[in-house]
Amino acid sequence: RHLPVVRENGEFCGVVTLTDLIKALSTMHSRNVGLRDENSKLRVLAIEDPLTGLPNRRAMEVDIAHTSAVAAREDRAYALALLDIDCFKKYNDNYGHPAGDIVLRQVADTLDKSRRSADKLYRYGGEEFLLLMPFTNEEGSLIATSRMLENIRAKAIPHAYSPCGIVTVSIGLAISNHPASWEELLETADSALYRAKESGRNRLHANFDTELNSDMSLPGAKVLEFTGTRPN
Ligand code: GH3
Ligand code: MG
Ligand code: MG
Repeated sequence: RHLPVVRENGEFCGVVTLTDLIKALSTMHSRNVGLRDENSKLRVLAIEDPLTGLPNRRAMEVDIAHTSAVAAREDRAYALALLDIDCFKKYNDNYGHPAGDIVLRQVADTLDKSRRSADKLYRYGGEEFLLLMPFTNEEGSLIATSRMLENIRAKAIPHAYSPCGIVTVSIGLAISNHPASWEELLETADSALYRAKESGRNRLHANFDTELNSDMSLPGAKVLEFTGTRPN
């Protein structure tokens, strides 16, 4: 129960009791638990966007790479959509940056509540979001994304400096039915978003495989336009 402590030269200099050892062990244990908690908090912070609470771009890249690999192996389709708030610079300029932050949170929350449970939403950056839709077909991805467009409109957040008078989003949707790289699919979604912006905003453009759309007048693209109406 008492361990003698001796110097290198054999000279006795004290004792360590069992209680001392138990205390030291218990201190080490609680420090380890603390470190483990801190580590798991840091892990969450590394993949979570602090403003919206959504997973961030880093998490997105890991998840898309995984979804893309599984889709290629199982020869199944998955879809990506980029969603961008319209005229958001004007919102900040006129209502202030803190008000802009509130809208960003509201939009993130509305989009996240609108998604299907198997889909995942990320803050892609700035006022842009990405929706990952694993194992989805064209019809499913169109239903999922057009619901988001509608739900943001239905929220009717006033934006006097936007064409519709409310906060709206534009969406670029791309579906992969073959194992192209996910980076390419993201570029396709980005081109669709660009088209949605160019043709008037507050709408959704979907770029599908050229093979799937060979009979359409606009090569490689299917366009869905939803024009908003200014609320009274
Ligand atoms: P478009 O319809 O073409 O998308 O126009 P836009 O004004 O939305 O796009 P633009 O790229 O010109 O401006 C994006 C704006 O988003 C500018 C930037 O200050 C704002 N923004 C990005 N991140 C944040 C943020 O975290 N908080 C706030 N309040 N604003 C942000
Ligand atoms: Mg943008
Ligand atoms: Mg924008």
